[in-house]
Amino acid sequence: MKRKAILFSAPSGSGKTTIIKQLMRYFDCFEFSISATSRQPRTGERDGIDYYFLSPDTFDARVKNDEFLEWEEVYANTRYGTLKSEIDRICGNGKVIVFDVDVNGGLNIKRFFGDDALAIFVMPPSIEVLEQRLRGRGTESEESIMKRLGRSAKELEESTKFDVTIVNDDLTRAVDETREKIEQFLTR
Ligand code: ADP
Ligand code: 5GP
Repeated sequence: MKRKAILFSAPSGSGKTTIIKQLMRYFDCFEFSISATSRQPRTGERDGIDYYFLSPDTFDARVKNDEFLEWEEVYANTRYGTLKSEIDRICGNGKVIVFDVDVNGGLNIKRFFGDDALAIFVMPPSIEVLEQRLRGRGTESEESIMKRLGRSAKELEESTKFDVTIVNDDLTRAVDETREKIEQFLTR
């Protein structure tokens, strides 16, 4: 069977996770690719559901062992990556793989899947709104907010390399637009 993938990338705080969660409920064929990370879980995050939370040493050992399709040090001393075993698990279930990855990871995954992937960039309405959303989420320290905002200008420049850009101003409209683009991709 042909593998298909939908990947979402965006500056942190754009609303990518919010959009993905709504779409996961709509598309029965979707299965989320659970990434590995060396960061600590946030309150409410569960190992094996939101991420595979690995110690930095375990993460590095698995990199050395060539277990990742891609990985990035997204923030200083914080690594995130897609395990090859995750792709095998989801394809084995005959599902469409859904990725939530940073912009570099997204472009790497797009290169790997080619036309079998739809690469979606979730664009915040402005940097000011991005900052408000990151603060409003209430999950990050000031240091973490600054790290995330520090990357966002560069990430926004890469949006043209994606198949589709969705501006996440009004959430309902953004979800509807994304759903239409995905339906076109899955039926073409
Ligand atoms: P990301 O996964 O891109 O880091 P999140 O999905 O966690 O972003 O969203 C960041 C914050 O912004 C969350 O508190 C979320 O509820 C809020 N949010 C997401 N989309 C919108 C929107 N369209 N309008 C207002 N707030 C939003
Ligand atoms: P957070 O710490 O907010 O969960 O994620 C931080 C960033 O890491 C987000 O941009 C997210 O998309 C990215 N990310 C999560 N998993 C992966 C992954 O497997 N690979 C890459 N390259 N980035 C990831």
